[in-house]
Amino acid sequence: MRLAIRPFTIELKEPFALASGSRTTTPAVLAELHHAGLVGYGEVALPPYLGWTQAAVCRALERVAWPDDANPLNLDALLEAAAGAMGDLPPALAALDIALHDLFGKIIGQPLYALWGLDLARRPPTSLTVSLGAPETIRRKVAQATEYEVIKLKLGGPTDRALVAAAREATDRPLSVDANQGWRDREAALDFIGWLAERNVLFVEQPFPASRADDHAWLTERSPLPIIGDEAIRGLADIVAARGVYHGVNVKLAKCGGLRVAYRMLITARALGLKVLLGCMTETSCAVSAAAHLSPLADWADLDGAALIANDPFAGARLIAGRLTPQPAPGIGVQPKALV
Ligand code: MG
Repeated sequence: MRLAIRPFTIELKEPFALASGSRTTTPAVLAELHHAGLVGYGEVALPPYLGWTQAAVCRALERVAWPDDANPLNLDALLEAAAGAMGDLPPALAALDIALHDLFGKIIGQPLYALWGLDLARRPPTSLTVSLGAPETIRRKVAQATEYEVIKLKLGGPTDRALVAAAREATDRPLSVDANQGWRDREAALDFIGWLAERNVLFVEQPFPASRADDHAWLTERSPLPIIGDEAIRGLADIVAARGVYHGVNVKLAKCGGLRVAYRMLITARALGLKVLLGCMTETSCAVSAAAHLSPLADWADLDGAALIANDPFAGARLIAGRLTPQPAPGIGVQPKALV
């Protein structure tokens, strides 16, 4: 197997603003695994708030040295060896893991959802994320998002009530909200969530800073809406720790280390009675298509990353009846656009 890696800058269709800041691009790393005439494609996007750089991910991937005769079907052994060589860098592992799973599926000749025995009919609708902005911008974006059954609003500031009201003027579809750690006062948060509960909101993501487990547990005990941990949830151990702190967890390939870990996190979360949101970064069709194969295990999906970007180098999963739907092709089901 030969690994090729390439830094890539994702350009966003519109500035993406959330409680921690605004950006117009997202650094990413693309990976290709070549083996016996087949190519496995992988990707990780690196929004700055995660604290991992493109250069660090590329350097880590350059340290992966599998034997020439390594069998690509030995996922556990290969990924464990790679994780050991790369150190604790989940996004680097994610890019490699997605490429290896894509190659694995192509060798076996099956899409990943079939390899896991998952029923695509159970995939939930995916939300479209509308980032922070003026109320009139929120109204416009929500009104334009006619293909989506659920709209996710980024909140976390003093204008939250006005932004939800603006979205409600444009649609009666269900909303979800993401405070991105932007709230500080738990009584005020509980009061606001009571108001949201009367406005067809499905859940609330990461109300307070991730380190404030006590405040989240207090809110989870009282909230009429599910409280979902995102920034507080990275790996498998965080799923176990989420019990009693959150009603549910947001699992994303980029922060946990890819499909293999994400599958185990989803299964564990469900076994512990936690709700599951399957999320993504602003990323290309490569990584969101990979995640879409796991979506039958999620209660909610937020797999709109490729819909928010202007320079998607891949064709892959498509939105069908509001659900991100993988192609019924081997592996993750993507093609580089230059080849389409
Ligand atoms: Mg979030």
